[in-house]
Amino acid sequence: EQNLFKIGAKIIERLEENNYEGYFVGGAVRDYTLGRAVSDVDITTNALPDEIEALFDKTIDVGKEHGTIIVLMDGLPFEVTTYRVEGTYTDHRRPDNVFFTQHLKEDLSRRDFTINAMAMTADMDLYDPYNGLKDLKSRLINTVGTASERFDEDALRMLRAVRFMSQLNFKLTSETEKAVAEHAGMLRYIAVERITAELRKLYRGINVQSAKDVIAKTDMLSYLPFFQSIDKEQYIQSRALSLEQEAVVHIYRDSALQKHLGTLKLANRQKTVIKESLKAIEALENGMNTKLLAYRYEEDILIGVNDIIKLNALVSADLEVHLEAAIDARPQLALKNRSELAADGNTLMTALNAKGGPWLRECLNAIEEEVLLGNLINNEKEIVNWVNLHVKNEDGNI
Ligand code: ATP
Ligand code: MG
Repeated sequence: EQNLFKIGAKIIERLEENNYEGYFVGGAVRDYTLGRAVSDVDITTNALPDEIEALFDKTIDVGKEHGTIIVLMDGLPFEVTTYRVEGTYTDHRRPDNVFFTQHLKEDLSRRDFTINAMAMTADMDLYDPYNGLKDLKSRLINTVGTASERFDEDALRMLRAVRFMSQLNFKLTSETEKAVAEHAGMLRYIAVERITAELRKLYRGINVQSAKDVIAKTDMLSYLPFFQSIDKEQYIQSRALSLEQEAVVHIYRDSALQKHLGTLKLANRQKTVIKESLKAIEALENGMNTKLLAYRYEEDILIGVNDIIKLNALVSADLEVHLEAAIDARPQLALKNRSELAADGNTLMTALNAKGGPWLRECLNAIEEEVLLGNLINNEKEIVNWVNLHVKNEDGNI
């Protein structure tokens, strides 16, 4: 990562050799200054997009009209963006137009929070006209300029504010929090996908609770998809380690919420995680055997369920223990999936000289269960013997 800045510095040096300016900027400067891991390093410059392209061998145009070019240096991508200021905002989510400028300070002024509005030279010297370092040291999220104006321009910034609270374990300045409370309703202008993306980052942070408290206190909660119908107290009190887990806790408590899940526009995998988790809790409560639980549900699902049932005391202590036993049982299961079974439909039809039908599925399910429970050895001969013993009538019913 130290390396990322070293490689990025080559880009800045090339810009400077050609009489342009170049600085590290944004999240990378913030995270570096905080001593956090940096995964991508952005650069800002007074060179225009065409000029950036002309200076470097390998570039990718990712949004020239907004001033952004990706420069590949030593095989790594760096976003290099021309200093820019933004025009008026009429839709509360994006500027009507952007203008390039020759002044770094103007570029920094359009950025959301002071901690995100610091620039750094190739030699790692800070340029910090909006006192980001001071807020960083006080662990505060503070808008550049007047908070209410900045949230009025772009309502997503309110969610970014609470997301950074959670990620960095920072607080909002009182002016920022007050402005969020006043503008919460403007979240309705923001695309659901962008809201969900911010929420997912928030839930992966280190102080989720502080962010949730502010979401509830400022009433942003009432304007968030899915969450808007959740009781404030319930929301504050629930504990979850991901957005999916948060949804599971609330749907578990009130199944009527299930029908609002679609409003979050989650990816299929995330929806599956939520549904499977709810099914796993139900199975647990219905007393499903530990080995069967372990077999039917993915490890990630069971571990996630284990987290939330403990954090929220959703089930009895007995069931908590039962679930842990299921997680522990997973590595030693006699089967990992159906394809490992030593017999399939054809084996059974041949052995019994019977035609296919619904019985076949039932029979395979029963065999699978017996093998998992350790009552039947998983080889073809044993399975055929078992079937011969257990099949009750000529229809093949067991
Ligand atoms: P991370 O990448 O960890 O999510 P980041 O601060 O790098 O955090 P990005 O979304 O990558 O966030 O944006 C890069 C920079 O662009 C920010 O640091 C900030 O200066 C500016 N920025 C991003 N979104 C906005 C916005 N909605 N309003 C104003 N400035 C913004
Ligand atoms: Mg970033």
